[in-house]
Amino acid sequence: MAIHLKNIAKLDEEPVKLSGTILPEELEIDSPDPLIRGSQALEYDLTGEKLEDSLLVRGYLEIVFDATCSRCLKSFPLRICLPDWACYLPLTGDEKVAIECDSVDLTPYVREDVLLELPQHPSCGDKCKGVEFRPKSESSVLPGPLKEPGESDPSAWSKLDQFKLK
Ligand SMILES: [Zn+2]
Repeated sequence: MAIHLKNIAKLDEEPVKLSGTILPEELEIDSPDPLIRGSQALEYDLTGEKLEDSLLVRGYLEIVFDATCSRCLKSFPLRICLPDWACYLPLTGDEKVAIECDSVDLTPYVREDVLLELPQHPSCGDKCKGVEFRPKSESSVLPGPLKEPGESDPSAWSKLDQFKLK
C-alpha cells in the first residue's frame, strides 16, 4: 500500500498516526546508481497534523537497499534511515498539495527524500579494504555478467572501471 494521509478534514481536531510499510513496487524508487538496486519494503511510523495553512507529516522512515560496495564490489545491505523525516504540505498558494477524496498521497514525497539520502559511493563499511589484488574467479568479484569476450586476465580494477561505466 502507498501511504495516504486520510481524513484531512478531521486533522483539525487531532493529529493522526500512520504506520506500516510501502512495498518496493509501490514506492518505485528508481536509483540512478547501478550500485544501488532493489530494495525491501519501506517502513514508516509517522504523525500527520494540520497547521494553520499547511499539513505537517513527520516521523520515521527506514528502507534497506541491495547495494554493491564501490570499493570492494561486495554486495551488502544499505540501510537508509530518516529518523526525523518531516514534510510540509501547503494547503494554499502555488505549491498547494493535491487533495483527492480528503486524502493526500505521501508516496512521492517519501520517494524523493529517500532518493536524496542515497550515497554517491556506497561503501560496505568503514573497515572496507577495497578490492583485493589477488587472482579471483570471475564470479566471486562481480555480481553481473560484465565480462568482455576475449578479455585476458583483467585485474579487479579494470573490472571496477567497467562496472562504474555501465
Ligand atoms: Zn566494501
